[in-house]
Amino acid sequence: MINSWFEEFWRILGLLAIAIFVGSLVGYVAVSLVLVLGGYLGWYLYNLYRLEWWLRKSRSYVPPSSMGMWDAIFTELYRVQKRHQKRQRRIVQLLSRFRDVTAAMPDGVIVMRGHGEIEWWNERAGQMFELKYPADVGQRLTNLVRNPGFHEYFQRNDTNEIYNFPSPENANIILAVRVTPYGQDQFLLMARDVTLLQRVEQIRRDFVANISHELRTPLTVMSGYLEILGNDTQFQSGPLKRPIELMQQQSKRMYRLVEDLMLLSRLENQQKPMKHELVAVPQVLATLCEEARILSGERQHNVTLQAEPELFIYGDAKELDSAFSNLVINAINYTPAGGTIALRWYRDEQGAHFAVKDNGIGIPPHHLSRLTERFYRVDVARSRETGGSGLGLAIVKHSLSRHEAQLRIESEVGRGSTFYCDFPLDAIAAKGSGRAAVQSK
Ligand code: ADP
Repeated sequence: MINSWFEEFWRILGLLAIAIFVGSLVGYVAVSLVLVLGGYLGWYLYNLYRLEWWLRKSRSYVPPSSMGMWDAIFTELYRVQKRHQKRQRRIVQLLSRFRDVTAAMPDGVIVMRGHGEIEWWNERAGQMFELKYPADVGQRLTNLVRNPGFHEYFQRNDTNEIYNFPSPENANIILAVRVTPYGQDQFLLMARDVTLLQRVEQIRRDFVANISHELRTPLTVMSGYLEILGNDTQFQSGPLKRPIELMQQQSKRMYRLVEDLMLLSRLENQQKPMKHELVAVPQVLATLCEEARILSGERQHNVTLQAEPELFIYGDAKELDSAFSNLVINAINYTPAGGTIALRWYRDEQGAHFAVKDNGIGIPPHHLSRLTERFYRVDVARSRETGGSGLGLAIVKHSLSRHEAQLRIESEVGRGSTFYCDFPLDAIAAKGSGRAAVQSK
């Protein structure tokens, strides 16, 4: 470009010299200068015209050719054009690759704006949600999906939550959707077909429910006969006494296990909708406290109860009783004789809480997150010794989650543990809400 400027400079200088020379020869220097400069200006205008015409009308990527400065400008423009063309081609390629990827995705993807207005979707999402292009662009997804639960899920705006519901395309297909915010006021909805997964999960649940149900009858028969044998005077001494005692112990353990498995299956299957009755928790806990003292027996634990007398909640009295008693039984089982077990039922601005605090053996921190898994035990031998099935905390967690409550555990090895059941504020019943239920055994 610098060369072109140089060339141009010398060209103008040359033209002016020629004009002066020719002008002085014929005696009209001024006229000659005007003519030469006029010609030069004309050439400039002509090039400008060609440039404007090429920019506006020409379909060719190749600019007109010229000389000097103009040629340099045309060449530079050509280079810019080429670069732009290459970049555009790359973007188109990228876009088509993106389209291929999203079309091949087995999951549905929908891009939405602030209030759920649909901007874009991939093929799978189009099928899952029966979206039509272009009619549904700009429509709110919540207006197209006729599922009240989905509306509520969308309003909640909880990015960690996954919501399962039947696909609008086919009610037999279960979709798991998750909405994640990104960029500025934009949302990405990912939908996955989880029908098979749910079916397998259901088969597993049914299997556990059926097998525990099937095991109960033979176990009842066996326990019955073992009891008769145990009461028979001819077996109360002699070599068979100990084996019969052991068989009785083990059949009792198995029976407890089967009962716990059945309860867990019932809670998991959620066939029975949760009862929404008023539960007089202070009374439930008073009974539980008495039972704990009886269970402690010779171990002489100091079991105390502190409960707000008018703090009632809505829920299922039987399920709550089973959850609370599991926690209390654990506290007794994992606290050495003479230890203290403090039960508390109170409310604060977060909601209602039941706390079972013991000064027992405690739990190492790395076990805490896995305690509510089925059959998870910190010390298997100790748990067996106490007659535990390893299902207690799984039952507690399920019962609580059906009440939208959560289990919280704090523990320190050698100092004791506190198990909290945290109920939300809206589970708390207002004063004088009616007759409260107390679970009777
Ligand atoms: P288990 O029938 O074995 O008691 P749970 O599900 O009720 O089963 O409890 C799981 C494990 O959690 C127990 O095996 C025990 O190791 C531990 N655990 C539960 N409660 C306590 C407690 N209060 N103190 C110490 N460890 C506990």
